[in-house]
Amino acid sequence: MADGASELQAQLKLLSDAFAQRLHDDLPALGHLAEQLANSPGQPEQLRLLQALHEQLHRLAGAAGTFGFVRLGQQVHELERQTEHWQQYLSQAQPLLSDFIASVQNLAGQRFSQEQEVADYQSHIPAPQPHHADRLIYILEAQPALGDYIRLTLGNFGYRTAHFSTLQALDAAVSLERPDALILDLELPASQGSALDYASQLQQRLAQPLPLLVISNRSDFATQLQAVRAGAEGFFNKPLDIAQLENSLEGCFAQQHGEPYRVLIIDDDRELAKRYSLILRSAHMQVEMLHEPDNIFSCMHNFNPEVILLDVSMPGCTGPELAQIIRLNDDWLRVPIVYLSAETDITRQMNALIKAGDDFVTKPISDHALVAAVFSRAQRARQLSQALARDSLTGLLKHADIKEQVAIEQARALRSGKPASVAMLDIDFFKKVNDSYGHAAGDSVIRALANLLRQRLRRIDSLGRYGGEEFLLVLPDCTAEQARRILDEIRQRFADLQFVAGEQHFSVTLSVGIASTAEYPGPTDALLEQADRALYSAKNSGRNCVV
Ligand code: GH3
Ligand code: MG
Ligand code: MG
Repeated sequence: MADGASELQAQLKLLSDAFAQRLHDDLPALGHLAEQLANSPGQPEQLRLLQALHEQLHRLAGAAGTFGFVRLGQQVHELERQTEHWQQYLSQAQPLLSDFIASVQNLAGQRFSQEQEVADYQSHIPAPQPHHADRLIYILEAQPALGDYIRLTLGNFGYRTAHFSTLQALDAAVSLERPDALILDLELPASQGSALDYASQLQQRLAQPLPLLVISNRSDFATQLQAVRAGAEGFFNKPLDIAQLENSLEGCFAQQHGEPYRVLIIDDDRELAKRYSLILRSAHMQVEMLHEPDNIFSCMHNFNPEVILLDVSMPGCTGPELAQIIRLNDDWLRVPIVYLSAETDITRQMNALIKAGDDFVTKPISDHALVAAVFSRAQRARQLSQALARDSLTGLLKHADIKEQVAIEQARALRSGKPASVAMLDIDFFKKVNDSYGHAAGDSVIRALANLLRQRLRRIDSLGRYGGEEFLLVLPDCTAEQARRILDEIRQRFADLQFVAGEQHFSVTLSVGIASTAEYPGPTDALLEQADRALYSAKNSGRNCVV
């Protein structure tokens, strides 16, 4: 880790040196402009030069602070402000212009080095996160049946699980091996004490907080507040929705060690963009830079960023214009756009935001603040897009997302040579279930099937609700014959489930069609059509079977 940090410092130093090198040209260029301004005969020419001066000062103001040239940044910023003033008042106050020209010439004549200035500007680089393979989950649940149910379901999802009925047993296990997450049911026999008090004390003992999910009969404000104070990231009422619990657990780990967030930086200043990208990469984000705004479409499609950092003033197309272009496309609605600019004028910031874009971050920005600003927005964007991809009744993937998953696994199967199978499931005579027992009973049948699928299938399998009572599954590294066996077992178990609606008991069956990438390597639609045909023939051969 120390090596990584010093490597980063070395790279940052290189960029700073490059910037210092750039000053050798940029400062004399400023001086030259000032000289031209001093000698310029008429107002139109002066205005043109002021405009050029303003553009250069503006770029320099943002970059200087970022590269650790704090004093330079402040002076340039002040001159930038004065330039604006002169652009506005040129006609009214001609004599003072010479003072202003002298200030620019004064700046152009100074010498700057980073060492001299860097003390004001200490960087903070977050440490990299370790990666865990199989996670250990401790479950505190006083009701044995519910405890077993949670343990088995999460076990089927590839977690290592252990179930405890008392706080004492849980605590003993925690001191032997630290789990990766904790699930606590708050309803304990009074003699055991409070589970949340225990959790709070435990969190204080640990160097890093433990992901905590809470189950409770109560949903009042005070209980939730106490849960949040103990570090809870999820709160679930009974009857427990295991799908939601599992999603939330996945969410905790995705935040901790998930795929790196994808960040797109759009800035015409390449060195500045490179510096930001180094900082964000060192905080485990995946970064791409775009210097030419007209490449935005291919960049959005190929890289699919989760956050966009956008410069405001760029030649050719301004930041707000580019933000508006991005917002013309609904596919990218989930992606937050954050302006990163030296613009400190609040009115202009607001004007940019009103056109498009979500937030404004002002250059220069400390490394820590940059990482925090991007991280929080990326995290929120990912949470939202995951929530949007989930069907609310079952917690499974929605139509478009499971279809996308089929395409991904099909491509993977082709590369690896290990065939994947897809299964299309449809509940038999489901209309009759609704008609006879009511829509709510129908809903609970759909949920039960989703939970059964979750329990019986592997973590690497993808499960989706394809339509009303139709499900689509993708099973990677699984032949058609293996898929038939596992789905036949699921079919059997589903048929054995007893449902209750008022006084009546009933059971339901389902039909399954399977297709394999071994026979249908592509396109995805052909594979899905084959699974659909198989399902159709299962229905025709009397239902309650797998074809
Ligand atoms: P088959 O065996 O041929 O599949 O017969 P079926 O009755 O299941 O087939 P059909 O597709 O005609 O009917 C499906 C029914 O599922 C119609 C619709 O009202 C019901 N349905 C779809 N989505 C939901 C849902 O979210 N909740 C409930 N309760 N019912 C739903
Ligand atoms: Mg049906
Ligand atoms: Mg149907």
